[in-house]
Amino acid sequence: EEVTLEDLQKISTLGCGSSGKVYKVKHVKTGKIYALKIIQEKHELAVRKQIMREMEILRRANSPHIVQCYGIFDRGGEISFVLEYMDGGTLAQVLQAHKKIPEHYLAEVARQVLKGLLYLHQNKIVHRDIKPSNLLINKRREVKIADFGVSTVLAHTLAQCNSFVGTCAYMSPERFDPDGYGGKYDGCSADIWSLGLSLLECALGRFPCLSPGQRPDWPTLMVAICLGDPPSPPPDASPEFQSFIRCCLQKDALLRHTAHGLLLHPFLKKYEQRSCDLSPLLQSLHL
Ligand code: ADP
Ligand code: MG
Repeated sequence: EEVTLEDLQKISTLGCGSSGKVYKVKHVKTGKIYALKIIQEKHELAVRKQIMREMEILRRANSPHIVQCYGIFDRGGEISFVLEYMDGGTLAQVLQAHKKIPEHYLAEVARQVLKGLLYLHQNKIVHRDIKPSNLLINKRREVKIADFGVSTVLAHTLAQCNSFVGTCAYMSPERFDPDGYGGKYDGCSADIWSLGLSLLECALGRFPCLSPGQRPDWPTLMVAICLGDPPSPPPDASPEFQSFIRCCLQKDALLRHTAHGLLLHPFLKKYEQRSCDLSPLLQSLHL
């Protein structure tokens, strides 16, 4: 299903990020709605290379838990992606509207994101920017991973895993301090840390690593994440959720569980029967 740019009509702005803007657009011939991500031009070589990487990953990715891409265009240096429109918004928006997200919803979010991560990691892709604003939801109860703007395909050398990209708040300890970890991790485990932190943020209703009032700047985060204990789950959470979070938030990347391992975790089993419908979460959102 290829879509051309000329057939798309802008409806509204969905979001602004570091790399550009995302619009809600309508395909005039079919009436279908898409998201159009436009990356501003005038980029230096390193950035262009990264954009090409995002293009390649999106083109190759084919999973129900990865936002689908229907076309990529380069018009005189302005690059745009035609993406599947996710009508439930981001997990960050849902969290903002609800203040906290109950555990049985988080089990469903975790299951779907882990399936997406399993797919990526099996294909040697590390996302590197897993966080609530890059996890999208739709009214068909689906949760999908978006924004491959800083992702990377694992090469034979792992040096590029260490490069400083992504949102540092959700970065794992070994990414702040790669030398201290001697390159003994494969990069994929960094995504698991970020997922654990995102889910914990949804459970707590605030960013876990900092105390209220602390500024989320690089040195503060570096000290909190590398020198402090890993943030802990709320005491009133179920033992299964507490254990799940601890499996994700192991500071030693080698002890952190994999996407495959976590999909078998008792936390996901516990809520399996409930076949959780995410739509109540979306109802109060006006998108
Ligand atoms: P950036 O690299 O600028 O962060 P993103 O791809 O994360 O770009 O998009 C920025 C924001 O746009 C997201 O946080 C989300 O609010 C919105 N957005 C992105 N893609 C979609 C989509 N497919 N459907 C709906 N909203 C989207
Ligand atoms: Mg983003």
